[in-house]
Amino acid sequence: MNDTPLSETSPPWTCARCGEPLTQGKIEIAYLGSAFPVDLWHCPTCGLVLIPEALALGRMLEVEKMLEDK
Ligand SMILES: [Zn+2]
Repeated sequence: MNDTPLSETSPPWTCARCGEPLTQGKIEIAYLGSAFPVDLWHCPTCGLVLIPEALALGRMLEVEKMLEDK
């Protein structure tokens, strides 16, 4: 069951490498030496992870704030 999807992510993405439809789910990204779970589109077949630029920038800012507050 999905929560309200971001408007940017409503059209289905396809994998640039193998053409499979991407699925959205928790992926651990490494940033500043730590791993953070984030919801990202990824290919279940080859493991390619899609990080839209706007999303990546937003997440990075959130992560940086999180680290500063700690
Ligand atoms: Zn793929």
